[in-house]
Amino acid sequence: MLEKREFYIDGGWVAPVAGSDFEVIDPSNEEAIAVISLGGQADTDAAVVAARRAFPGWAATPPAERLQLVERVFEIYQARAEEMAETISREMGAPIEMAKTQQVPAGLGHIKNFIRAAKGFAFERPLGEHAPNDRILYDPAGVCALITPWNWPMNQVTLKVIPALLTGCTMVLKPSEIAPLNALLFAEILDAAGVPAGVFNLVNGDGAGVGTQLSGHPDIDMVSFTGSGRAGTAISKNAAETLKRVHLELGGKGANIVFADADEKAVKRGTLHCFNNTGQSCNAPSRMLVQREVYDAAVETADAVAKAMQVGPAAEAGRHIGPAVSQAQFDKIQNLIQVGIDEGARLVAGGVGRPEGTNRGYFVRPTVFADVSNDMTIAREEIFGPVLSIIPFETEEEAVAIANDTTYGLTNYVQSQDGAKRNRVARQLRSGMVEMNGQSRGAGSPFGGVKASGNGREGGVWGLEDFCEIKAVSGWGE
Ligand code: NAD
Repeated sequence: MLEKREFYIDGGWVAPVAGSDFEVIDPSNEEAIAVISLGGQADTDAAVVAARRAFPGWAATPPAERLQLVERVFEIYQARAEEMAETISREMGAPIEMAKTQQVPAGLGHIKNFIRAAKGFAFERPLGEHAPNDRILYDPAGVCALITPWNWPMNQVTLKVIPALLTGCTMVLKPSEIAPLNALLFAEILDAAGVPAGVFNLVNGDGAGVGTQLSGHPDIDMVSFTGSGRAGTAISKNAAETLKRVHLELGGKGANIVFADADEKAVKRGTLHCFNNTGQSCNAPSRMLVQREVYDAAVETADAVAKAMQVGPAAEAGRHIGPAVSQAQFDKIQNLIQVGIDEGARLVAGGVGRPEGTNRGYFVRPTVFADVSNDMTIAREEIFGPVLSIIPFETEEEAVAIANDTTYGLTNYVQSQDGAKRNRVARQLRSGMVEMNGQSRGAGSPFGGVKASGNGREGGVWGLEDFCEIKAVSGWGE
């Protein structure tokens, strides 16, 4: 078994001071593959001290030099892509081909987009012609705690570490203890790229330990968090004591509005999207709202897609979906499927229990519920598994009302061949993002939500701004 107990603090790998052992489990076979250490207060403090000490120097480093470091990170990440894919695949269960074509490239894409955004980013800007001696400075936010989940691990780590580096922040990363190995590899990449001592630090730990120690730490200026609403609330409350900035990227319950005039692939595309990454995506289109005229056909299509979907181990080649990440997630998904049945939704495909032929691994049956009403638990709670809920609607107004009737507001989706209708609906949806007709958002587009989905915007220019404090200066010398 791999032994990965060390943390990356102040430019080197150090043994934990107050750590306890924790096993990383392969979700495809439930076997331990590595042991890490969950740090304690002394480890958190050591990382924060190092980051605090490195801050003035890094903040004063010219942006062009910081950019050069990130360009080296890009090169080394690319060179180690294969290893990164294998690591992510094994520890969180993404099938290897999917890890190579989606998980790893997501991180690479963000680094590239941040490089592009940073090249055009003015850290000192004039206020306007009316105030020639005013300048607006984009200062680094300070020492940042970056707390990330396991589901798209490199996607989320790069969305935080890279803009923090580019804007002159120093940081302590606490990746998910469920899938920490990819972040340890990423620390090796940063080290090889020559990140100055103390600028980037990594301490493994759980939410109750290192996570809480970071969010309450008086020497942390800002927390950037991606994960569950439960943890987001706990972090916000704990951070309030020291009035630090908190950026949250939380869950979702995306509506995918399929109008009668949608293109013929819309339902298949939406179902596959919901099941991608075994449904473990915060932006999963997990509520499919279908206009009555095409409702029966849509249910049939979703059923066929679910029944054709293969489920299998992460190491196997192919376009199947892998297991859920952990026993806890498996249990949560099973429970919510049962609640869906108990509350009277019509089970069309899948259901409780493992797929036929599997008795080990956290495998879940791709599941479709029809005749779901929006007040059922499966339409309200984020399931984070391959479970689609189909809800009928009659009119455009009703579709918008159902889509917005949720505590979440991350990504909504619209399928229609009528451009004017799509735009009208997009304007009314209360979410940070709207994707229409299967077109993904462009490179460098801001990712984030409203309401219970959070408040930050990650990626591109907006992602850089999220790590800046804006300073207004008058009397600027000519
Ligand atoms: P989680 O909230 O349990 O854990 C996420 C991270 O927070 C982990 O590193 C964990 O150790 C830490 N943590 C947990 N409790 C904490 C606390 N009290 N204080 C400080 N840190 C704490 O979530 P998860 O199970 O790893 O991830 C799944 C959730 O993340 C889902 O709800 C999903 O929708 C959400 N998510 C959101 C986005 C987004 O960008 N909006 C992206 C991915 C995942």
